[in-house]
Amino acid sequence: MARDTVVIVGAGLAGAKAAETLRAEGFSGAILLVGAEEELPYERPPLSKDYLLGELDRASTAVHGPGWYTDHEVDLVLGAAVISIRRDTHTVELANGRHLAYTHLMLATGASPRRLSLPGAELEGVLYLRDLADSERLREALRSGNPVAVVGGGWIGLEVAAAARRYGCPVTIVEPQPVPLQATLGTEIGQYVTETHRRHGVTVLSGRRPRNLIGSGHVLGLTTDAGEEVEADTVLIAVGATPNTALARGGGLAVDDANHGIVVDEYLRAGDPTIVAAGDVASALHPFYGRHLRVEHWANALAMGPAAARSLLGRGTPYDELPFFYTDQYDLGMEFVGLPSGSHDVVVRGELGEDAFHAFWLADGRVVAGMHVNRWDEGIEPAKQLVRRRATVDAARLADPSIPLDGVVVGAH
Ligand SMILES: Cc1cc2nc3c(=O)[nH]c(=O)nc-3n(C[C@H](O)[C@H](O)[C@H](O)COP(=O)(O)OP(=O)(O)OC[C@H]3O[C@@H](n4cnc5c(N)ncnc54)[C@H](O)[C@@H]3O)c2cc1C
Repeated sequence: MARDTVVIVGAGLAGAKAAETLRAEGFSGAILLVGAEEELPYERPPLSKDYLLGELDRASTAVHGPGWYTDHEVDLVLGAAVISIRRDTHTVELANGRHLAYTHLMLATGASPRRLSLPGAELEGVLYLRDLADSERLREALRSGNPVAVVGGGWIGLEVAAAARRYGCPVTIVEPQPVPLQATLGTEIGQYVTETHRRHGVTVLSGRRPRNLIGSGHVLGLTTDAGEEVEADTVLIAVGATPNTALARGGGLAVDDANHGIVVDEYLRAGDPTIVAAGDVASALHPFYGRHLRVEHWANALAMGPAAARSLLGRGTPYDELPFFYTDQYDLGMEFVGLPSGSHDVVVRGELGEDAFHAFWLADGRVVAGMHVNRWDEGIEPAKQLVRRRATVDAARLADPSIPLDGVVVGAH
């Protein structure tokens, strides 16, 4: 009988962590980790933070050093995009015409930056940020100290704005919402983050959309729908990401309309007993929420890759990690847990002005999400527990940092 072979499509964080787990769990068959990029699997968060700032070297972004793959007999097939899945013959086809046979397949193809089709979008100096090469190109541009416009005041846009200020670049953010992050975090916390950027010299044009990019050959700036002209030598478009689902779709796997991800159950199975999906691309049935979620965060790829690997080995358990996210901007470190929304009630515990506080999002008095800024003493764990317990809290007590978090739960004191 042919040796069991797991083919992992997508040599990113979820894929590399899955390979690690397969070996750690004693899988002795072949593992092929196939990636479209030429790079060893690497972590993306530094691309908008310390790698962009030149404070972290390339090798330190790698999930494992090159020797690890040899030592663990994980066959890296890099610079090789998979173009189709043949479920009837259990094979995948690579762009170079090679076919790989699998007994089990994992899809961890991640996501790609959403493109904007604005007039001038093809000009030099109009950049996106997803991979190492993008980050290096952007770093080169920031080193010039020339003006930067960031289209999109989401996390990546904000982190790049902070990095650009460190390089001394004049920075303008153009964001369609009245307050950046408003839809996800609400006005108060969105305003807090926005004011932090303004304090560091960023011009935030909110409630505006870019109308067109100006320049000939190289970009010179952009105009907004409110008629402003923003000078820029670099324009970063950071308007979200689209999961890479074409391969799954072509292979007849379900992709959902709500989350745009590959539909998997709580064991991360993609409707075919031999195929799982994980990471940014997977829309997984989440037991805690009772619906499908697609989470585009580092911690999710880190935990979901291994969970999918265990599932392939028949040792899966329902994947129920709560969404967790972190970001670093200027001297602020933030962590979030749960699913915040701009429509929830927000309770701040501590002083926003001191840049050290917790915040909680409540729905009908229950904690659905929490965050902290620079509160590394307590961290995110207490918030996580409140979310996990679906705790009903007394909002006034929650807002009072002198009352321990255990004492804010209604009925628990
Ligand atoms: C700039 C940046 C900063 C970020 N910062 C944070 C942060 O601060 N905190 C946080 O929580 N999250 C952050 N994230 C998100 C986090 O990095 C992602 O959630 C994580 O990388 C997802 O891992 P993944 O393995 O699912 O996908 P990816 O890392 O995208 O890996 C997927 C890989 O699959 C490859 N691939 C796609 N299609 C094919 C194919 N057909 N054949 C072969 N290979 C294919 C891709 O080329 C890619 O290399 C950031 C992301 C970016 C881009």
